[in-house]
Amino acid sequence: MDPILEQYRALEDHVRQYTPNADFDRLYAAFTYADRAHDGQLRRNGTPYITHPLAVAEIAADLELDMDSLIAALLHDCIEDTGATHEEISKLFSPTVANLVEGVTKLTRMQYTTKEEKQMENLRKMLMAMSKDIRVILIKLCDRLHNMRTMEYQTPKKQKEKSLETLEIYAPLAHRLGMQKIKWELEDLSLKFLDPAGYKDIENQLNSRASAHEEFMASIQKKIQDRMEREGVTCTVYGRVKHIYSLYRKMYTQQKSLYEIFDLYAFRVIVSDIAGCYTVLGCIHDMFNPMQGRFKDYISTPKPNGYQSLHTTVIGREGIPFEVQIRTQEMHETAEYGIAAHWKYKQGMTGREEIGSEKTFEWVRKLLEAQADTDAEEFVRTMKVDLFSDEVFVFTPNGDVISLPAGATPIDFAYSIHSAVGNHMTGAKVNGRIVPFDTQLNNGDLVEISTSKSAHGPSRDWMNICKSNEARSKIRQWFKKERREENIVNGRVSFDSELRRAGYSMAMITENDLLPVILKKLKYSTLDDMYAAIGYGGITSAKAVNRVREEMLRLRREQKEQAQQEALFQQAITPTETAMPHVSTALPAAQPEKHVTHSKTGIIVEGLDNCLVKFAKCCTPVPGDPVIGFITRGYGVSVHRQDCPNASPSKVKPEERGRWIRVSWGESEQSLYKASLEVSAKARPNLALDIAAALSACKVRVENFNARGLPDGFAMVSLVLYVEDQTKLNSVMSKLNQISGVMTVKRAAG
Ligand code: MN
Repeated sequence: MDPILEQYRALEDHVRQYTPNADFDRLYAAFTYADRAHDGQLRRNGTPYITHPLAVAEIAADLELDMDSLIAALLHDCIEDTGATHEEISKLFSPTVANLVEGVTKLTRMQYTTKEEKQMENLRKMLMAMSKDIRVILIKLCDRLHNMRTMEYQTPKKQKEKSLETLEIYAPLAHRLGMQKIKWELEDLSLKFLDPAGYKDIENQLNSRASAHEEFMASIQKKIQDRMEREGVTCTVYGRVKHIYSLYRKMYTQQKSLYEIFDLYAFRVIVSDIAGCYTVLGCIHDMFNPMQGRFKDYISTPKPNGYQSLHTTVIGREGIPFEVQIRTQEMHETAEYGIAAHWKYKQGMTGREEIGSEKTFEWVRKLLEAQADTDAEEFVRTMKVDLFSDEVFVFTPNGDVISLPAGATPIDFAYSIHSAVGNHMTGAKVNGRIVPFDTQLNNGDLVEISTSKSAHGPSRDWMNICKSNEARSKIRQWFKKERREENIVNGRVSFDSELRRAGYSMAMITENDLLPVILKKLKYSTLDDMYAAIGYGGITSAKAVNRVREEMLRLRREQKEQAQQEALFQQAITPTETAMPHVSTALPAAQPEKHVTHSKTGIIVEGLDNCLVKFAKCCTPVPGDPVIGFITRGYGVSVHRQDCPNASPSKVKPEERGRWIRVSWGESEQSLYKASLEVSAKARPNLALDIAAALSACKVRVENFNARGLPDGFAMVSLVLYVEDQTKLNSVMSKLNQISGVMTVKRAAG
């Protein structure tokens, strides 16, 4: 027999097993139609193209899909690859079949690029929502599975692209629909092309120990089987090594080798009812050691995709951990075939033809209502959430998928991109065609917005047209800004009256230059901004006035402190003889009688006994000089001459005024004080020698002598000397002054 006809007959036999009374003439008609349509087309491996739709239909038969789905599977590439049209298929077969084929074609035409996970999730949701009939997705999954099975004939580039797409879109879709078996195969095939070495490595390792694995699994299987027989529970036990992709991921994420992974093996115990599941669980936990925290009850709490089972991981006497999944036959089929399993039940129950068409999941709901099964209700609820009847997914021009509420318009789309896009929108295109703003967007639409800087902004009726809260609130925002003038006027009136009530005025604020501070604290850049905010209720006038009050109080406090410090400073710099006003501060002026008149340095610090004193390097005071002290941070009191530039009131920072204190000379243990002098002179030979001779005649100790020439024939001599006091220093200075060529002799300062 012709191998192609043979392949068709096999399909027919397969279908006959689960629907003996199906209309096989229709199936045959579809086969011959597709065969003719693809006539002359070859697959990359050289076989006639028709082998592909036949294989896809065969996979659909594995899922026990209905006749329309099988026919659509046979025809699924006709619109894309041959001259067939929706109309023709509709006439020859049925509108339902035509819609299924068209749905699959749409998914096939969709272009994906890899994006971040959120985008992929939106894409998957979009695919689901686009395929108004879930059977479209089921057929597409069969198609993709066969393509992946025959991927070795494609170019390496195509292999990688398709595998990535499969891993990112189709395997998760299969998972969402609860179709474990297809999901696993898609994942393994994808991995095989994406990381051939990694895949082969695991495969080889598993193969090399295949017999050991078989032996282990058989022994566990037998143990469970025997025990359950004794308990009187009928069950079937299967053992398997987990699929390669899941092992690969575990090795990768846990950084472990294959045999370090926990649960290499998985066993399944299938029983007839839920009570049996818990009986089996009890026995398993009795026979083996359960591992802590590895028991999960997905029967009482099913997974969102409807999956139900009891999971536990145990360790046998061999020390090898393994997972056991316990479920009923029905749960098992749901786990393996997911939504397709529900599909099958539905068929068996009513045999109605209208299944699955119009309203997205109406049939799933009806099916499950008919089953009156609470767990199934949970399934419907989660399916509804998953299938997003309240969302619509559209493309941006650069291929991102945007999720909008169902019924959304280009206005919603524009505002979801950016409020500026919405506010400057002048036109919209959907799939390349200009459309009115109130057009409802459909799944998969490509939406483009044209904008212009001179756009008038949104109109009020947009608020009624748009569907998303985001768009509505952004439009409201725009109107808020638009009514700014009005808001400013109202805001000012409100603020002024609140201000008066608090006993302040605008003049008080401006006189003290408080406006910038107040605006900054309230986070407005101008007074009008603040008025506008008060006007539209962004802030209350009471809150704004509170800020004013705080600032006024702060200002008064500061003025008071400053006055005190000023007084202290004046007091410090004024000679002791003059009467001083009493000022109370943290550092009160001490009574002169109480002074310690004797100190190591000769310096008496008022109010502070025995404090660390040092002489300022800038002005090197000596006894007799009028002095003033500065309280340093951590180094005691630094003593300056009162004529030192660093102590001049103009140079003293306001915040440091309070640190200047009165000091005076008293009796001293110290006999010599360092003093710095600067001698300027006309340069001449022996000048330095003459200065040195004069110093020597005065009997002063010289610590440092530094002479340097200046431009234009001048010279500067810096001296550091030790003297007893100001009198001695003055006499040294006058001696130096008499030296020929010397112009000035000065105390160094600053
Ligand atoms: Mn195909």
